[in-house]
Amino acid sequence: MTIHVGIIGTGFIGEDHGRKLVNTINGSAVSAVSDINLGRATEVARLLGGARIFDDGHELIRSPEVDAVLVTSTGPTHSEFVLSSIDAGKPVMCEKPLAPTTPECEEILKAEVAFGRRLVIVGYMRRYDAGYRAVKGALESGAIGDALVLHNVHRNATVGEAYTSFMTMTDSMIHEVDTTRWLLGEEITSVQVIPPKRTPKAYPHLQDPQFAAFTTESGVLSTVEFFANCQYGYDVRCELVGSIGTASMVNPTVASTIAARTLAERIPADWRERFGAAYTAELQAWITGLQHGECVGPSAWEGYAATKVVEVGVEAVKSGQRMKIEYVEKPALYR
Ligand code: NAP
Repeated sequence: MTIHVGIIGTGFIGEDHGRKLVNTINGSAVSAVSDINLGRATEVARLLGGARIFDDGHELIRSPEVDAVLVTSTGPTHSEFVLSSIDAGKPVMCEKPLAPTTPECEEILKAEVAFGRRLVIVGYMRRYDAGYRAVKGALESGAIGDALVLHNVHRNATVGEAYTSFMTMTDSMIHEVDTTRWLLGEEITSVQVIPPKRTPKAYPHLQDPQFAAFTTESGVLSTVEFFANCQYGYDVRCELVGSIGTASMVNPTVASTIAARTLAERIPADWRERFGAAYTAELQAWITGLQHGECVGPSAWEGYAATKVVEVGVEAVKSGQRMKIEYVEKPALYR
Protein backbone atom coordinates (compact mmCIF):
# COMPACT_ATOMS: atom_id res chain seq x y z
CA MET A 1 0.00 0.00 0.00
CA THR A 2 1.40 3.41 -0.98
CA ILE A 3 0.94 6.27 1.50
CA HIS A 4 0.25 9.53 -0.41
CA VAL A 5 1.79 12.39 1.56
CA GLY A 6 0.85 16.07 1.26
CA ILE A 7 3.62 18.51 2.25
CA ILE A 8 2.83 21.94 3.72
CA GLY A 9 5.91 24.18 3.54
CA THR A 10 8.37 23.53 0.71
CA GLY A 11 11.42 25.29 2.14
CA PHE A 12 14.75 23.61 3.02
CA ILE A 13 13.46 20.66 5.00
CA GLY A 14 10.15 20.29 3.14
CA GLU A 15 12.07 19.80 -0.10
CA ASP A 16 14.59 17.49 1.61
CA HIS A 17 11.90 15.27 3.15
CA GLY A 18 9.94 15.36 -0.13
CA ARG A 19 12.93 14.07 -2.11
CA LYS A 20 13.39 11.24 0.41
CA LEU A 21 9.67 10.31 0.33
CA VAL A 22 9.81 10.14 -3.48
CA ASN A 23 13.26 8.60 -4.05
CA THR A 24 14.37 6.69 -0.93
CA ILE A 25 11.49 5.68 1.33
CA ASN A 26 9.62 2.43 0.59
CA GLY A 27 5.85 2.80 0.38
CA SER A 28 5.43 6.56 -0.02
CA ALA A 29 4.61 9.08 -2.75
CA VAL A 30 4.14 12.86 -2.58
CA SER A 31 0.70 13.68 -4.02
CA ALA A 32 0.39 17.35 -3.01
CA VAL A 33 2.36 20.39 -1.85
CA SER A 34 1.45 23.82 -0.49
CA ASP A 35 3.48 26.90 0.37
CA ILE A 36 2.62 30.58 0.74
CA ASN A 37 5.48 31.09 -1.69
CA LEU A 38 3.76 29.76 -4.84
CA GLY A 39 6.95 29.91 -6.92
CA ARG A 40 8.71 27.71 -4.38
CA ALA A 41 5.77 25.24 -4.26
CA THR A 42 5.76 25.05 -8.08
CA GLU A 43 9.50 24.38 -8.21
CA VAL A 44 9.34 21.66 -5.54
CA ALA A 45 6.23 20.06 -7.11
CA ARG A 46 8.23 19.79 -10.34
CA LEU A 47 11.27 18.34 -8.53
CA LEU A 48 9.02 15.75 -6.88
CA GLY A 49 7.58 14.57 -10.19
CA GLY A 50 4.41 16.64 -10.51
CA ALA A 51 2.64 16.78 -7.12
CA ARG A 52 -0.63 18.80 -7.11
CA ILE A 53 -0.23 22.35 -5.80
CA PHE A 54 -2.70 23.74 -3.24
CA ASP A 55 -2.90 27.48 -2.46
CA ASP A 56 -4.04 26.70 1.07
CA GLY A 57 -2.66 24.06 3.47
CA HIS A 58 -6.11 23.33 4.93
CA GLU A 59 -7.46 22.43 1.47
CA LEU A 60 -4.49 20.09 0.99
CA ILE A 61 -5.31 18.38 4.30
CA ARG A 62 -8.95 17.82 3.28
CA SER A 63 -8.06 16.50 -0.19
CA PRO A 64 -8.91 12.81 -0.80
CA GLU A 65 -5.57 12.61 -2.67
CA VAL A 66 -3.74 13.04 0.67
CA ASP A 67 -3.48 10.08 3.11
CA ALA A 68 -0.98 11.69 5.50
CA VAL A 69 0.28 15.23 6.11
CA LEU A 70 3.84 16.48 6.55
CA VAL A 71 4.07 19.95 8.15
CA THR A 72 7.37 21.62 7.30
CA SER A 73 6.24 25.24 7.23
CA THR A 74 7.62 27.81 9.68
CA GLY A 75 7.06 27.12 13.41
CA PRO A 76 4.25 29.64 14.12
CA THR A 77 2.06 27.95 11.46
CA HIS A 78 2.46 24.39 12.83
CA SER A 79 -0.43 24.22 15.29
CA GLU A 80 -3.13 25.32 12.80
CA PHE A 81 -2.10 22.61 10.32
CA VAL A 82 -1.70 19.90 12.99
CA LEU A 83 -5.14 20.75 14.44
CA SER A 84 -6.67 20.73 10.95
CA SER A 85 -5.12 17.28 10.29
CA ILE A 86 -6.57 15.91 13.56
CA ASP A 87 -9.93 17.41 12.59
CA ALA A 88 -9.73 15.55 9.26
CA GLY A 89 -8.67 12.33 11.07
CA LYS A 90 -5.40 12.21 9.10
CA PRO A 91 -1.96 11.18 10.40
CA VAL A 92 0.44 14.12 10.56
CA MET A 93 4.18 14.42 10.98
CA CYS A 94 5.13 17.90 12.18
CA GLU A 95 8.69 19.18 12.05
CA LYS A 96 10.00 20.49 15.36
CA PRO A 97 8.77 22.41 17.25
CA LEU A 98 5.27 20.94 17.58
CA ALA A 99 4.39 24.60 18.19
CA PRO A 100 6.44 27.50 19.57
CA THR A 101 4.19 28.03 22.64
CA THR A 102 2.79 25.64 25.25
CA PRO A 103 -0.86 26.85 24.97
CA GLU A 104 -0.76 25.83 21.29
CA CYS A 105 0.80 22.45 22.20
CA GLU A 106 -1.83 21.89 24.91
CA GLU A 107 -4.58 22.56 22.37
CA ILE A 108 -3.08 19.86 20.15
CA LEU A 109 -2.90 17.41 23.09
CA LYS A 110 -6.58 18.08 23.88
CA ALA A 111 -7.64 17.65 20.24
CA GLU A 112 -5.76 14.36 19.87
CA VAL A 113 -7.08 13.02 23.17
CA ALA A 114 -10.62 13.96 22.07
CA PHE A 115 -10.02 12.17 18.75
CA GLY A 116 -9.18 9.08 20.82
CA ARG A 117 -6.03 7.74 19.18
CA ARG A 118 -2.62 9.01 18.16
CA LEU A 119 -2.25 10.75 14.79
CA VAL A 120 0.61 13.18 15.49
CA ILE A 121 4.37 12.62 15.43
CA VAL A 122 7.07 15.29 15.83
CA GLY A 123 10.32 15.37 13.82
CA TYR A 124 12.89 14.79 16.54
CA MET A 125 15.08 12.77 14.18
CA ARG A 126 18.10 12.39 16.47
CA ARG A 127 16.24 9.50 18.11
CA TYR A 128 16.91 7.59 14.86
CA ASP A 129 20.66 8.38 14.75
CA ALA A 130 22.86 5.29 15.15
CA GLY A 131 25.20 7.06 17.61
CA TYR A 132 22.45 8.25 19.96
CA ARG A 133 20.81 4.81 19.79
CA ALA A 134 24.11 3.17 20.79
CA VAL A 135 24.37 5.47 23.84
CA LYS A 136 20.78 4.64 24.82
CA GLY A 137 21.53 0.94 24.27
CA ALA A 138 24.56 1.14 26.59
CA LEU A 139 22.42 2.67 29.34
CA GLU A 140 19.54 0.24 28.91
CA SER A 141 21.82 -2.82 28.86
CA GLY A 142 23.23 -1.86 32.27
CA ALA A 143 26.78 -1.66 30.84
CA ILE A 144 27.49 1.82 32.26
CA GLY A 145 25.38 1.56 35.41
CA ASP A 146 23.17 4.44 36.56
CA ALA A 147 23.11 7.64 34.48
CA LEU A 148 24.70 10.55 36.40
CA VAL A 149 25.79 13.29 33.97
CA LEU A 150 25.14 13.88 30.25
CA HIS A 151 27.54 16.24 28.41
CA ASN A 152 26.28 17.59 25.08
CA VAL A 153 28.14 19.57 22.43
CA HIS A 154 26.26 21.15 19.50
CA ARG A 155 28.34 23.32 17.17
CA ASN A 156 27.39 24.96 13.91
CA ALA A 157 29.74 26.66 11.40
CA THR A 158 27.97 30.06 11.07
CA VAL A 159 24.51 31.62 11.45
CA GLY A 160 22.92 34.70 9.83
CA GLU A 161 22.18 38.03 11.47
CA ALA A 162 18.54 37.08 12.17
CA TYR A 163 19.62 34.38 14.64
CA THR A 164 19.09 35.54 18.26
CA SER A 165 20.21 34.47 21.74
CA PHE A 166 16.68 33.13 22.43
CA MET A 167 16.91 30.96 19.29
CA THR A 168 19.92 29.17 20.80
CA MET A 169 17.27 27.68 23.11
CA THR A 170 14.15 27.47 20.88
CA ASP A 171 15.78 26.39 17.59
CA SER A 172 18.98 24.62 18.56
CA MET A 173 19.16 23.34 22.15
CA ILE A 174 15.59 22.04 21.70
CA HIS A 175 17.28 19.03 20.06
CA GLU A 176 19.36 18.33 23.20
CA VAL A 177 16.23 18.83 25.30
CA ASP A 178 14.56 16.06 23.30
CA THR A 179 17.58 13.72 23.32
CA THR A 180 18.08 14.22 27.07
CA ARG A 181 14.42 13.27 27.77
CA TRP A 182 14.54 10.33 25.36
CA LEU A 183 17.97 8.94 26.35
CA LEU A 184 17.21 9.07 30.06
CA GLY A 185 13.45 8.36 29.91
CA GLU A 186 12.79 11.22 32.35
CA GLU A 187 11.31 14.69 32.26
CA ILE A 188 13.53 17.77 32.67
CA THR A 189 12.68 19.63 35.88
CA SER A 190 14.93 22.70 35.80
CA VAL A 191 17.13 24.80 33.53
CA GLN A 192 19.84 27.36 34.12
CA VAL A 193 21.76 29.30 31.47
CA ILE A 194 25.35 30.44 32.12
CA PRO A 195 26.68 32.61 29.29
CA PRO A 196 30.40 32.00 28.54
CA LYS A 197 32.91 34.47 27.07
CA ARG A 198 31.72 35.51 23.58
CA THR A 199 33.41 34.69 20.31
CA PRO A 200 34.47 37.71 18.19
CA LYS A 201 33.04 35.82 15.17
CA ALA A 202 29.35 36.39 16.12
CA TYR A 203 27.06 39.40 15.50
CA PRO A 204 27.18 41.65 18.60
CA HIS A 205 23.54 40.92 19.55
CA LEU A 206 24.18 37.16 19.85
CA GLN A 207 25.39 35.41 23.01
CA ASP A 208 27.67 32.85 21.38
CA PRO A 209 28.59 30.28 22.58
CA GLN A 210 25.68 29.59 24.93
CA PHE A 211 25.74 27.13 27.83
CA ALA A 212 22.80 25.55 29.67
CA ALA A 213 22.47 23.06 32.52
CA PHE A 214 19.30 20.98 32.73
CA THR A 215 18.36 18.65 35.59
CA THR A 216 15.99 15.69 35.35
CA GLU A 217 13.48 14.08 37.73
CA SER A 218 16.09 11.69 39.20
CA GLY A 219 18.76 14.43 39.44
CA VAL A 220 20.84 13.71 36.31
CA LEU A 221 22.65 16.86 35.13
CA SER A 222 22.56 17.40 31.35
CA THR A 223 24.86 20.17 30.12
CA VAL A 224 24.72 21.70 26.63
CA GLU A 225 27.35 23.85 24.96
CA PHE A 226 25.79 25.33 21.84
CA PHE A 227 28.17 27.27 19.58
CA ALA A 228 26.44 28.89 16.57
CA ASN A 229 29.56 30.28 14.85
CA CYS A 230 32.29 27.73 15.58
CA GLN A 231 33.59 28.26 11.99
CA TYR A 232 34.87 24.73 11.38
CA GLY A 233 31.72 22.66 10.61
CA TYR A 234 28.72 20.95 12.20
CA ASP A 235 29.82 19.01 15.27
CA VAL A 236 27.34 17.17 17.51
CA ARG A 237 28.58 14.88 20.29
CA CYS A 238 27.55 13.62 23.70
CA GLU A 239 28.96 11.58 26.56
CA LEU A 240 26.74 9.88 29.11
CA VAL A 241 28.59 9.31 32.39
CA GLY A 242 27.29 6.36 34.36
CA SER A 243 28.15 4.90 37.77
CA ILE A 244 30.43 2.20 36.28
CA GLY A 245 31.31 3.50 32.79
CA THR A 246 30.54 6.03 30.08
CA ALA A 247 28.99 5.92 26.59
CA SER A 248 29.99 8.47 23.93
CA MET A 249 28.44 9.53 20.65
CA VAL A 250 30.94 10.92 18.15
CA ASN A 251 30.69 12.24 14.59
CA PRO A 252 30.32 9.21 12.30
CA THR A 253 33.46 8.49 10.28
CA VAL A 254 33.33 6.71 6.95
CA ALA A 255 36.90 7.52 5.95
CA SER A 256 39.97 9.23 7.35
CA THR A 257 43.42 10.15 6.10
CA ILE A 258 46.78 9.58 7.71
CA ALA A 259 49.73 11.61 6.51
CA ALA A 260 52.76 13.26 8.10
CA ARG A 261 52.04 11.56 11.45
CA THR A 262 48.53 13.13 11.48
CA LEU A 263 45.15 11.38 11.49
CA ALA A 264 42.44 13.54 9.81
CA GLU A 265 38.68 12.92 9.85
CA ARG A 266 35.96 14.91 8.11
CA ILE A 267 33.54 17.01 10.20
CA PRO A 268 30.05 17.25 8.60
CA ALA A 269 29.28 20.56 6.85
CA ASP A 270 25.75 20.92 8.24
CA TRP A 271 22.75 19.16 9.79
CA ARG A 272 21.66 17.69 6.47
CA GLU A 273 24.95 15.84 6.06
CA ARG A 274 25.23 14.82 9.73
CA PHE A 275 21.66 13.59 10.22
CA GLY A 276 20.72 12.56 6.64
CA ALA A 277 20.45 8.87 7.59
CA ALA A 278 18.42 9.71 10.72
CA TYR A 279 15.88 11.74 8.67
CA THR A 280 15.54 8.77 6.29
CA ALA A 281 15.06 6.31 9.16
CA GLU A 282 12.50 8.61 10.81
CA LEU A 283 10.45 8.96 7.61
CA GLN A 284 10.65 5.22 6.88
CA ALA A 285 9.48 4.33 10.40
CA TRP A 286 6.53 6.75 10.02
CA ILE A 287 5.48 5.40 6.60
CA THR A 288 5.91 1.72 7.54
CA GLY A 289 3.92 2.36 10.72
CA LEU A 290 1.09 3.98 8.72
CA GLN A 291 1.03 0.97 6.36
CA HIS A 292 0.32 -1.15 9.47
CA GLY A 293 -2.20 1.30 10.92
CA GLU A 294 0.22 2.52 13.60
CA CYS A 295 1.52 5.96 14.56
CA VAL A 296 5.30 5.55 14.96
CA GLY A 297 7.48 8.44 16.15
CA PRO A 298 7.81 10.97 18.99
CA SER A 299 4.31 11.83 20.23
CA ALA A 300 2.54 15.17 20.66
CA TRP A 301 3.38 14.83 24.38
CA GLU A 302 7.10 14.72 23.49
CA GLY A 303 6.53 17.82 21.36
CA TYR A 304 4.74 19.60 24.21
CA ALA A 305 7.43 18.68 26.77
CA ALA A 306 10.28 19.98 24.58
CA THR A 307 8.44 23.26 23.93
CA LYS A 308 7.74 23.60 27.67
CA VAL A 309 11.44 23.22 28.53
CA VAL A 310 12.66 25.76 25.96
CA GLU A 311 9.88 28.20 26.87
CA VAL A 312 11.19 28.20 30.45
CA GLY A 313 14.71 28.13 28.96
CA VAL A 314 14.09 31.49 27.30
CA GLU A 315 13.17 32.90 30.73
CA ALA A 316 16.39 31.37 32.06
CA VAL A 317 18.38 33.14 29.30
CA LYS A 318 16.83 36.42 30.49
CA SER A 319 17.21 35.87 34.24
CA GLY A 320 20.39 33.81 34.59
CA GLN A 321 18.58 32.00 37.43
CA ARG A 322 17.80 28.30 37.79
CA MET A 323 14.17 28.00 36.64
CA LYS A 324 11.83 25.15 37.66
CA ILE A 325 9.74 23.43 34.99
CA GLU A 326 6.25 22.10 35.68
CA TYR A 327 4.04 20.24 33.23
CA VAL A 328 0.33 19.70 32.75
CA GLU A 329 -0.83 16.20 33.73
CA LYS A 330 0.15 13.63 31.12
CA PRO A 331 -3.00 12.27 29.42
CA ALA A 332 -3.47 8.46 29.46
CA LEU A 333 -3.11 8.40 25.64
CA TYR A 334 0.63 9.15 26.04
CA ARG A 335 1.47 6.96 29.05
P1 NAP B 1 12.09 27.45 5.45
O1 NAP B 1 13.17 27.11 4.48
O2 NAP B 1 11.82 28.88 5.80
O3 NAP B 1 10.75 26.79 4.89
C1 NAP B 1 9.48 27.02 5.42
C2 NAP B 1 8.52 27.27 4.27
O4 NAP B 1 7.18 27.37 4.79
C3 NAP B 1 8.82 28.61 3.54
O5 NAP B 1 8.78 28.39 2.15
C4 NAP B 1 7.67 29.49 4.01
O6 NAP B 1 7.37 30.51 3.11
C5 NAP B 1 6.57 28.46 4.13
N1 NAP B 1 5.38 28.91 4.86
C6 NAP B 1 5.28 29.88 5.80
N2 NAP B 1 3.99 30.00 6.21
C7 NAP B 1 3.27 29.10 5.48
C8 NAP B 1 1.88 28.76 5.43
N3 NAP B 1 0.98 29.38 6.21
N4 NAP B 1 1.49 27.80 4.55
C9 NAP B 1 2.39 27.16 3.76
N5 NAP B 1 3.72 27.46 3.78
C10 NAP B 1 4.14 28.40 4.62
O7 NAP B 1 12.33 26.71 6.83
P2 NAP B 1 12.99 25.27 7.09
O8 NAP B 1 14.41 25.45 7.47
O9 NAP B 1 12.63 24.34 6.01
O10 NAP B 1 12.24 24.88 8.46
C11 NAP B 1 10.86 24.52 8.47
C12 NAP B 1 10.54 23.84 9.81
O11 NAP B 1 11.36 22.69 9.94
C13 NAP B 1 10.84 24.73 11.05
O12 NAP B 1 9.88 24.48 12.02
C14 NAP B 1 12.21 24.23 11.51
O13 NAP B 1 12.41 24.37 12.90
C15 NAP B 1 12.13 22.74 11.13
N6 NAP B 1 13.46 22.16 10.89
C16 NAP B 1 13.80 21.05 11.56
C17 NAP B 1 15.05 20.49 11.39
C18 NAP B 1 15.43 19.27 12.15
O14 NAP B 1 16.62 19.04 12.34
N7 NAP B 1 14.49 18.43 12.58
C19 NAP B 1 15.96 21.07 10.51
C20 NAP B 1 15.56 22.21 9.79
C21 NAP B 1 14.31 22.75 9.98
P3 NAP B 1 8.08 31.96 3.34
O15 NAP B 1 9.55 31.72 3.23
O16 NAP B 1 7.53 32.81 2.23
O17 NAP B 1 7.68 32.41 4.72
